Amino acid sequence: MEIHRSKSAIRAELALWRKQDATIVLVPTMGFLHEGHLSLMRLARQRAGAQGRVVASIFVNPTQFGPGEDFESYPRDESRDFDLLRAEGVDAVFAPDATEVYDPHAQTIVETTELAKTLIGKLRPGHFRGVATIVTKLFNIIRPDAAVFGEKDYQQLAVIRTMTRDLDMGVEIIGAPIQREADGLAMSSRNVRLAPADRAAAPILARALDQAEAMAPSGITASRLRSHVRATLEAEPRARVQSVDIRDAATLDTISGPLTRPAVILLAVSFGKVFLIDNRVVHPSQEAP
Ligand code: AMP
Repeated sequence: MEIHRSKSAIRAELALWRKQDATIVLVPTMGFLHEGHLSLMRLARQRAGAQGRVVASIFVNPTQFGPGEDFESYPRDESRDFDLLRAEGVDAVFAPDATEVYDPHAQTIVETTELAKTLIGKLRPGHFRGVATIVTKLFNIIRPDAAVFGEKDYQQLAVIRTMTRDLDMGVEIIGAPIQREADGLAMSSRNVRLAPADRAAAPILARALDQAEAMAPSGITASRLRSHVRATLEAEPRARVQSVDIRDAATLDTISGPLTRPAVILLAVSFGKVFLIDNRVVHPSQEAP
């Protein structure tokens, strides 16, 4: 497994693989890897096949963090990450630093105009512009056939599918299911930053989603379901609820009245300085129109 720090080095290796007609599958990450990331590597391998190549990137992208967010304190452990990726059979890692990635005179951005300003985009202005721009750059550097992203970042996956479609990027986007700890907490690199009492309280997100999933087929309206989820979260004194939204699972459009199509419940909750997100797609009853 080669570790590349520069665009030219990884491009040189990729050129050789392309000559062999290898399918190339990219898994972008910000590192500090956990089982959730590793499940993406396995999906990438399935898609690439034994003759294909899996490329992981590790880059804590400064442009997707706002002022006062956790760019500096975001957990990092490169050598452990490299060991985990090697053990997974990943073929190459792109782990550049910010000066390699961004030209000091850069002036071009990629933005999904509508999706970028709703939901998490409202809580974190500029976040999805940073995400769309770095993922575009990674696609241009690596030129993968396919790329794998987790459903944990549901809106991010929607942003990436949208920009790939809109800009004819020709990269197949594969979504991967959320991996959870035994107590239901969605795996996240940020979980290590939770104080012990917050770590103990954080599974309330998964419990609120479990309850909502069970209630969804009852004919309940979106707004009542939302109130229920919010009340469950607010009953946990350590949780600071940032947002609870119920949207059309396919389009992320707002919905009202009884659920008639699959809906996604999107949660953003802070514990101390740690910002956690989680989501669940729920289904109305079979009898719904
Ligand atoms: P990150 O390093 O947080 O930027 O995540 C890199 C990729 O891993 C993204 O596509 C995430 O959606 C995905 N990911 C993060 N946590 C999980 C999880 N618990 N289950 C599945 N995928 C995840």
